[in-house]
Amino acid sequence: METAVYRITQENPLVPEMETLGEIIKRGGLVAFPTETVYGLGGDALNPESSRKIYAAKGRPSDNPLIVHIAKLEDLKPLVKDIPEAAEKLAEKFWPGPLTMIFPKSDLVPKETTGGLDTVAVRFPSHPVAKRFIEAAGGYIAAPSANLSGKPSPTIAKYVVQDMDGRVDAIIDGGDIPIGLESTIVDLTGDVPMILRPGYITKEMLEEVLGEVATDPTILNGNATDRPKAPGMRYRHYAPKGELVIFEGNKEEVISSINARSEEASKKGRKTGVIATSECADLYKADSVKVIGSRENEEEVAASLYRILREFDDEGVEIISSESFSGTGLHVAIMNRLLKAAGHKIINLWEEA
Ligand code: AMP
Ligand code: MG
Repeated sequence: METAVYRITQENPLVPEMETLGEIIKRGGLVAFPTETVYGLGGDALNPESSRKIYAAKGRPSDNPLIVHIAKLEDLKPLVKDIPEAAEKLAEKFWPGPLTMIFPKSDLVPKETTGGLDTVAVRFPSHPVAKRFIEAAGGYIAAPSANLSGKPSPTIAKYVVQDMDGRVDAIIDGGDIPIGLESTIVDLTGDVPMILRPGYITKEMLEEVLGEVATDPTILNGNATDRPKAPGMRYRHYAPKGELVIFEGNKEEVISSINARSEEASKKGRKTGVIATSECADLYKADSVKVIGSRENEEEVAASLYRILREFDDEGVEIISSESFSGTGLHVAIMNRLLKAAGHKIINLWEEA
């Protein structure tokens, strides 16, 4: 398949090419597009054949449901059996934006799109290019992240092209993605709203609107044997090719432990990398030291993480060590993705002290 690349930026999304891209979706084709969280791999959410194609293009297990993206609040109603009051409140506060909500699905949504579930995940993105594209495509775009299954989600167009060239009809290059981590997923089908995947909209922000909000315990505890409620959270995701280990502890001990690991790996002829905050970057010795941002600026850290994991792959780095980012707010999402990328390999130097 020949993949066309269109450069359409958020400053100027009202271009005639959008109609062509919308037609591709209406005919059952696939288009990768930018959103404020990560790049998405879009198809017609109401066409079972399109959803099958999405799974095939990603190499994703077909029991891992897709998120349905809308561009108008009115378009939620036909997708769902009912809209709880909590959802109305969250939509008012956070839509359009990086929040996905789970509802009981209506018959309009094919099971192919929901991975066989009776519930549907819905998001109304804020990115101007995403909104315009969804409208042009008829209003309902099913989209997972636009990476091959198991790879870090793409936050720059280069990595969409790397994974999806020849697998989709078109790619919209919308430039760099502002948030860089996938949306927060909240399940509203139970008694208490539950976070199934942490993201830019934090637990604290949700609680300000709803009161008590729970978190799926499997998210916080990597050893949990329970099945996570968001099927996608159980797959090893976001992983770089190199062996990533996270170091948690005081600054000096983290730096010396990471340097010791890199030195040992170097002696064996392995290529080493470090994920460092700008405050510490100069203190590491490795083949590739990547600055993820300032420890004072968690948004910068979130926006850089996936790009850095991909860059290590490009450079063939084999042994990767990272500082830890545990904490509240956006740190929960950053640590969740970093832990998954590391296959939950974390060395706690506080405990060893
Ligand atoms: P991605 O498209 O890569 O951001 O992944 C979509 C995520 O949403 C996966 O982790 C899915 O398991 C989750 N998801 C989608 N639909 C549902 C649903 N109906 N119930 C629970 N989780 C869902
Ligand atoms: Mg994904």
